[in-house]
Amino acid sequence: MTRHVPALVVGGGISGLVCAHALRKSGIDAQLVESSPRPGGVIHSITRDGYLLELGPQSFSSTPALRELCAELGISSELLQAPPRAPRYVLIDGKLQPVPLSPPAFFMSSLLDGSTKWAFVRDIFGKSIPPDDDESVAAFTRRKFSKQFLDRLVGPFVSGIYAGDPERLSLRSAFPQLYEGEQSAGSIVRGMMRLAKSKKGPRERPTLQTFRRGNETLVHALANKLGPALFTRTRVAAIARQDNGSLDVRLENQKGDESISTRSLILATPTDVAGMLLSQLDSSSQSPLSSIEYAAVAVVSLGYRKKDVGHSLNGFGFLVPRSASLRVLGSVWNSSLFPGRAPEGHALLTSFVGGTTDPSATKLKPAELASLVHREISAVLSTKNEPVFSNVTIWPRALPQYNLGHSDRLAAVAKSCSRFPGLWLTGNYLRGPAIGSCVDQALAVAEEVRAKLVPR
Ligand SMILES: Cc1cc2nc3c(=O)[nH]c(=O)nc-3n(C[C@H](O)[C@H](O)[C@H](O)COP(=O)(O)OP(=O)(O)OC[C@H]3O[C@@H](n4cnc5c(N)ncnc54)[C@H](O)[C@@H]3O)c2cc1C
Repeated sequence: MTRHVPALVVGGGISGLVCAHALRKSGIDAQLVESSPRPGGVIHSITRDGYLLELGPQSFSSTPALRELCAELGISSELLQAPPRAPRYVLIDGKLQPVPLSPPAFFMSSLLDGSTKWAFVRDIFGKSIPPDDDESVAAFTRRKFSKQFLDRLVGPFVSGIYAGDPERLSLRSAFPQLYEGEQSAGSIVRGMMRLAKSKKGPRERPTLQTFRRGNETLVHALANKLGPALFTRTRVAAIARQDNGSLDVRLENQKGDESISTRSLILATPTDVAGMLLSQLDSSSQSPLSSIEYAAVAVVSLGYRKKDVGHSLNGFGFLVPRSASLRVLGSVWNSSLFPGRAPEGHALLTSFVGGTTDPSATKLKPAELASLVHREISAVLSTKNEPVFSNVTIWPRALPQYNLGHSDRLAAVAKSCSRFPGLWLTGNYLRGPAIGSCVDQALAVAEEVRAKLVPR
């Protein structure tokens, strides 16, 4: 028998959870189906041997919508903020150098040479026009600033967010504010200042956050609110359009197959699944979603006795330029940022390996990854002994790449979706991969669905 639901959300990562929650809050009986046994997608916190680990994102930036959501879910008091002035480092010539975080620090820093600093002065007082063609992050950085700035700061920063390759990432898709800043103000610095001024509300320094019991607190709170409207171990296998305009959704769960009919279907899955489902509606073409590349990433958490680490570990962690010829992309010093991450007298350090510039790294065995990371970070942090704890998680499809042509691919997807009223997409490949961006995108989609189902 076919059950009818007013709105069905597919995929219980943060995007799907927030979308389903917002729909239900607005009075729509939305249901959420998630194929795996647990909701949360790549957000996964575990406790083992006294360590509190994040297997996916380590923390997130606070945004107005996230703050409001936490307040509404009653979990604001669980939030922890990383020390806002914790230094971040970049590995240059085998040494950790602090990343300049303010304009005076930037101009005083020995990290960058005079010609890079002069390029910033030129940007502030001059005028430039971005090219019409989609420009890569690397080409943009070389055109506006310098090769050194690309190698020492932009490249490592891009690894930290996308685990991506600046030669292939599209500036206008991956960092739209920089592109729009140059287009509207003729200067990156003036454009960014203009954007900051146009933001409503008090100025705030972006802070990194997590919860006392890990990022999954947000997932649990959303899942609890959804209650029986959340179905885990339930996979969407196929969708089809009915003559009356509804969408027929075939679910597979432990009980077998079930069919659901809905007038509002929100796909909050990664692009391989969304693309596969879309191509079932439009058999004439393969969805452009299928061609969005993902970076594979290994997340390696190591625990050390503090007395075995020569470095003070005072800071956020460090990023590694590709020219340093290490396989570690960067390391987060979890126990320096948040309390309760490691047993007394121990430190928890989480490193990332792989990304689009080193895809074969994630094919290594977990034990090989743990020893590779230990070897590489030991040289940087002067550790004396082997780690006393390790955990390795491999994400074969960790982060979508906003590569050259991304905006064209999304425009083609939007055009194809417009032929199927009642079908929406949300997820980390649309407006940015950060948790806050996924939340913003999911809320915007929920509002579009609400406006269609319950016009005011
Ligand atoms: C290693 C790593 C580090 C990161 N670091 C940070 C960070 O520091 N800060 C930050 O803000 N962000 C970070 N991110 C990014 C951020 O965590 C993700 O972009 C975001 O959580 C993705 O959420 P999502 O719901 O869009 O997708 P996902 O979490 O991928 O969820 C999609 C869900 O769909 C389900 N699904 C798939 N197919 C089906 C089907 N057929 N039927 C039903 N369900 C299905 C999946 O099981 C999954 O649960 C990181 C990500 C990774 C992987």
